[in-house]
Amino acid sequence: MNTYNNVLELVGDTPLVKLNKITHNLKGSFYAKLEWFNPGLSVKDRVALYIIEKAEKEGRLKPGSTVCETTSGNTGFAVAMVCRIKGYKCILAVSDKTGPQKIAYLQAMGAKVYVCPANVPADDPKSYYETAKRIAKETPNSIYINQYFNEENIAAHHSTGKEIWEQTDGKVTHVVICSGTGGTISGVGRYLKEKNPNIRILGVDAYGSAIKKYHETGELDSKEIYPYKIEGLGKNLIPSATDFSVVDRYVKVTDEDAAYKASEVALTEGLFIGYTGGAVTQGLFEFEDEFDENSVVVTVYPDHGSKYMDRIYNKKWMEKYEYTNHPLQEIIDEAKIEYIEEDTEVRTEPYDFYVI
Ligand code: PMP
Repeated sequence: MNTYNNVLELVGDTPLVKLNKITHNLKGSFYAKLEWFNPGLSVKDRVALYIIEKAEKEGRLKPGSTVCETTSGNTGFAVAMVCRIKGYKCILAVSDKTGPQKIAYLQAMGAKVYVCPANVPADDPKSYYETAKRIAKETPNSIYINQYFNEENIAAHHSTGKEIWEQTDGKVTHVVICSGTGGTISGVGRYLKEKNPNIRILGVDAYGSAIKKYHETGELDSKEIYPYKIEGLGKNLIPSATDFSVVDRYVKVTDEDAAYKASEVALTEGLFIGYTGGAVTQGLFEFEDEFDENSVVVTVYPDHGSKYMDRIYNKKWMEKYEYTNHPLQEIIDEAKIEYIEEDTEVRTEPYDFYVI
């Protein structure tokens, strides 16, 4: 029979799809790795599975143990999913910047969730880092995934790098990847630089994050840090899960550009990407001077747009931040709702976070 023993056997081996329209003004050919084809709908399935299975092999996890983590959502969901299959408890600390729908996803997968303030320093006892650390310390038979400071987060992406190398028959010349914990860009970068040191490893950071400046100067500049909306990209600290030595260059993108670009990818390519997918797509344009006709550029779309129906795909949310001047307004207008009968209305309560 052609079957899988459980959902975890579906992690990895995600497809690489050509971008046909959105990049037409850029030189080179462009491909996107669709990480939402992982069963937990994000790139983070690779990390959760790799780290948990390593802990099992080393005897640090046994049935009934607890796995703790800090998360912007995707890692938490992946950890919760792996824990369900393997019989572990899952405790997660998230920041209050995380959308309510993402938190509901975590609960649906059986995780216990602590919500912590986003705008406190990372070393504040109330931060989500400190909260997860404390809970892991207080809970017997537990492990702390610690994705920002765990080298295994980089090793987990050996698979991502290998897949990109093999899927392009070794022809890849550039990768453009967003940097949160830095696990993806570092793991892919290490693998590809070993295969061919000329491959350019290009990182995308957010305005409001300290990563790009740190890469350029070696300093954590607090003036770079301020609140921003993109979840999962950039950081107010320097994660040791980022191997800055394999990254050639970073650019920064704005909340607004990333939000528009996500919709633009949906409307031009039919790919329903998350907010950081929009950020890396904007990054392709910021890195324009890197590419020529022979470039084979791979970007990674970390997760799926369905997780952002209360954010970038929500008209009210976009209007709240005055993101109203979309370059593809004509297509958006075509997608307006029309009522067959005059007195019909789409029910908005309690679903008012959906696009109406
Ligand atoms: N996009 C999303 C939606 C994420 O959740 C993350 C993880 N924080 C990233 C991008 C960044 O990936 P990495 O942590 O491997 O740098």
